Amino acid sequence: MMKNVIAGNWKSNKLMAEALRLMKEIESGLTSEISAEVIIAPPAPYLSAFASEAKGVLQIASQQCSATGSGAFTGEFTAAMLGSCGVKWVIIGHSERREGYGETDNVIRKKLRAALDSGLQVLLCCGEPLEVRESETHFDWVQNQLMHALSGLSNSALESIVIAYEPIWAIGTGKTASAGQAQEMHAFIRNWLSICFDRSTARGCRIIYGGSCKPSNADDLFAQPDVNGGLIGGASLNAADFIAIVTALENR
Ligand code: PEP
Repeated sequence: MMKNVIAGNWKSNKLMAEALRLMKEIESGLTSEISAEVIIAPPAPYLSAFASEAKGVLQIASQQCSATGSGAFTGEFTAAMLGSCGVKWVIIGHSERREGYGETDNVIRKKLRAALDSGLQVLLCCGEPLEVRESETHFDWVQNQLMHALSGLSNSALESIVIAYEPIWAIGTGKTASAGQAQEMHAFIRNWLSICFDRSTARGCRIIYGGSCKPSNADDLFAQPDVNGGLIGGASLNAADFIAIVTALENR
């Protein structure tokens, strides 16, 4: 059965001791009966320690990986290195990396392949900026991002990818996409996947929503049939809020 997915992206927040405390608080609030996959993405320097410390239901993600293999690439870390530290997931294509660190569709395509080749599972982000939403070309925008990232992959490769739809105008702004807007885009993505791959691959692909998701709107978002979970930024830095969001997903 398809498992829902909920991931907390901690971005560049919290020093080590504080971050470990937050992970323990989240862990102690989640029972082993949780059916969703629950993932946290702490800052990169803590990944190895977190992968060893994580107990129970929590899985660990990196917030990115390099597009290259090993070699003379100062400061980069490869997908294989992440796997060797016990990291199971990597976020690729987050809008903050696209916009702030020059990650083009081409770079994202390479990173995605590097991650898959190393056996990592991928949270692949897509989503449109405000001006694109206002010009009503958001479906084309997202389709184009996904086409660049996914074309040429096999149906089975898609099993290792969770697509995170994150409208940029809703990230960290407090402005959430309405449940209807999220559902509409998720249904569009699923339909596009069924054309590019096949219907059963599309039906089995987890598509999660990100953008100011919090306890007060999680129920509505997760009630949508094509919303299979969430990528949570700000609210994942507070254990009670993150646990409440996980609980909302479990109760959908
Ligand atoms: C994110 O950055 O992926 C995100 C969804 O952030 P926030 O929940 O803070 O909008």
